[in-house]
Amino acid sequence: MFRCSEVAERASLLTDGELGFWPALNMKLHLAMCRGCRAFIEQMRVTRDLTAMAGLAEDPVPGDEIKAALARRQM
Ligand SMILES: [Zn+2]
Repeated sequence: MFRCSEVAERASLLTDGELGFWPALNMKLHLAMCRGCRAFIEQMRVTRDLTAMAGLAEDPVPGDEIKAALARRQM
């Protein structure tokens, strides 16, 4: 099983869903037992979501392109 430092190293991979099956399982086992790392991962997720939302708000062009693409598909 991973140590806390190993969990911290892979935290962004886990929140991005880029971790393989076994490493992700090891992470989840560790998180089930370690409150500190659970809080750390939770914080990473919140930060990432806020960053994603801020990115959309600051740059409306991709959003408009997505809407246009969806409108074309619906026709
Ligand atoms: Zn830990």
